Amino acid sequence: MVRFDTVTKKYDGNIVALEDVNFDIKQGEFCFITGPSGAGKSTIVKLLIQDELPTSGSIFYEDIEVPKIPHKMLPSYRQKLGVVFQDMKLLNTRTLTENIAFALEILQKKEQEIKNTTDYLLELVGLEDRRNLYPDQLSGGEQQRGAIARALASNPSLLLADEPTGNLDEENAYMILDILKKINDSGTTIMVITHDNILVKAEKNNAREIHLDEGKVVSDTKSSKTKEVNKPEKIEEKKEPINEAMGDQIEDIQPKEEKSKMETELTKLSKGLVEKFEKNAIYSTDLLLGLTQGDLKNLKLKKKEVKELRKYIKNYLSNKSNDIKKKS
Ligand code: ADP
Repeated sequence: MVRFDTVTKKYDGNIVALEDVNFDIKQGEFCFITGPSGAGKSTIVKLLIQDELPTSGSIFYEDIEVPKIPHKMLPSYRQKLGVVFQDMKLLNTRTLTENIAFALEILQKKEQEIKNTTDYLLELVGLEDRRNLYPDQLSGGEQQRGAIARALASNPSLLLADEPTGNLDEENAYMILDILKKINDSGTTIMVITHDNILVKAEKNNAREIHLDEGKVVSDTKSSKTKEVNKPEKIEEKKEPINEAMGDQIEDIQPKEEKSKMETELTKLSKGLVEKFEKNAIYSTDLLLGLTQGDLKNLKLKKKEVKELRKYIKNYLSNKSNDIKKKS
């Protein structure tokens, strides 16, 4: 499902974050990526969501060669992954239910499906009775469980969690671990980046541990716990152009909006921004919301444009929030 093949990542200033990293994670695995601070753990996540590009080597997610995904397809690709960061905050202006429902709205789900999925996810993370609370009314552990529920909204086949128990006490950390195990039991592959040795030790018989130090894999327990996979074990390196190499996947991750015209709302932005978005096939605000800082850098937005965009997104979110409130 995830394959790093001799991956090296050097940041500006010749800082080597990863060096010749190889691993292959199969569908259904539960895998910890461990190592001291600065070992290169977060870089693995950044490469997997194409927030950064490798200096050399190849990275595959299923049979998609991640560094080759065109920018315009990144938001849709990222919807295939559920990502939870330690500092990933829920939107403060919305209740827990609204936070999850919003993620589903972006995916253009119908009202009934939004309701059913939200109920299911709240139950999965044990927060049904907290559904109408705002994030600042929730404890740290509850917020993190809420963030996991939101990350699962797109029904991803891989859940990537970067230090999900970072700021939590032991009891809450175990609760998160139990939820991740439950999610894994239903077939979702899990990659947890952590320096929490207690959790890793507690799971040493059930989970795999890839340990990094100074950018290198120093040990890999290669757990035997893998679920049935229908996909070929080894993904042959594809030499065709990206469109062919991605095969059916491209249809799958092609944003629907791409075939339609740019949202009228978006055309109210300044001419330079509209042109940059059109060039990158970003036709809707929902696609904008999936962009990362790295994407913004690639889009070469001017400072003034970034400011304009921030204001636009703030307005958009506050209007949407009002819409949701009206509906409920
Ligand atoms: P970890 O998650 O294990 O703490 P990281 O992947 O964040 O490690 O970082 C690995 C190394 O790369 C560190 O030395 C860090 O300082 C460096 N690094 C990370 N991001 C950048 C960046 N954007 N620019 C320069 N160096 C970076």
